[in-house]
Amino acid sequence: MDPVLPNSDFDDHEQVVMLDEPEKGLRGLICIHSTVLGPAMGGCRQASYPTSAAALSDALRLSRGMSYKNAMAGLPAGGGKAVLYDADPRASRETRWLAFAAAVESLRGRYITAEDVGTSIADMEIVSRRTRFVAGLPSRVGKAGGDPSIWTALGVFAAMEACLGRPMSTARIAVQGLGAVGYKLCERLHRAGARLVVSDVDQSLTARAMREFGAESVAPDRIHAASADVFSPNALGSILNEQTIPELGAPTVCGGANNQLESPQSGRSLLERGVTYAPDYVVNAGGIINVVAEFRGEAASRVEDQVRAVGPRVHNLLARAKAEGRPPGDLADEIARGLMDRPRPRAALTGVARAFT
Ligand code: NAD
Repeated sequence: MDPVLPNSDFDDHEQVVMLDEPEKGLRGLICIHSTVLGPAMGGCRQASYPTSAAALSDALRLSRGMSYKNAMAGLPAGGGKAVLYDADPRASRETRWLAFAAAVESLRGRYITAEDVGTSIADMEIVSRRTRFVAGLPSRVGKAGGDPSIWTALGVFAAMEACLGRPMSTARIAVQGLGAVGYKLCERLHRAGARLVVSDVDQSLTARAMREFGAESVAPDRIHAASADVFSPNALGSILNEQTIPELGAPTVCGGANNQLESPQSGRSLLERGVTYAPDYVVNAGGIINVVAEFRGEAASRVEDQVRAVGPRVHNLLARAKAEGRPPGDLADEIARGLMDRPRPRAALTGVARAFT
């Protein structure tokens, strides 16, 4: 491990760029995990962290996750992620995003950014004034682009159909989280005739789903235990853990949330209990498929076929994992690593470093 990065989440990342321009309100990191399959693609997250070391861990893990997700989706893209934190409220939003854009531009296309948790299309429009290495912008007529959550929801739906193996109209689905992805997923499930049981900490979203889809609702801390054919996490990470797994009310888990397994042991616990787990980053690739298509200037009409292909991919993965008696998440990781298993540049540390706390 690089002695400058005493962090157990370091995984031979190609490059870590520290962003430290407090006078411009910019503090954060860009992590490039791999460019073996193409430029590192992954969004820019704004969040708060207890320490800058925690931000580094998150950026390292998220960027590696993007490598795996992009590889498994068959995209010509590697994995990267930016994390911004401790924004100085005295600096204007425009100044911060232009400074971030300059950092992205300085990487000359090795990293391509987009919006993520805590960032918006409007932020990326500012970024696009200083660099062309940005996606997640409003769509142009006939071209891929726009809100990625529409495509994430379609990919989750396709994966769920593959898991179920019978008409959706015969199924009862428990959906956790009714945000951008979860609500659009419910719309599709309702149109396909599924019965829904839903939960969100935002009561207005739950009430709307009850009204529009005739959904039942349960308390946020019990949705994983609701009796259903599929439990679909679309809110939080680490929802599959030693407390929730014994209580699961569905034989199958398939949802859009990132990092659903609390640990690799959670994947093994699911297998031991006979629960089929569709690996999160294979299921939720629809959004990045659209973002990559947008960056490459592809036609919008091509995106749907690519996103629907998430279904057969999940089907084949689950069939092979079952035949081999292995947790599907472990198998997905192995396949993704195999796709990236080629020589890559050694890790580099660039940018204006400040001591990690
Ligand atoms: P979002 O913020 O729009 O929605 C999340 C929803 O979850 C909110 O409505 C929130 O109130 C609800 N929620 C929070 N805590 C909850 C709890 N304890 N119980 C029930 N509901 C709770 O986010 P999103 O864009 O819909 O993303 C959802 C998940 O999917 C995240 O994990 C995200 O990382 C992942 N994801 C999203 C995309 C995308 O295209 N937006 C792509 C890939 C992965």
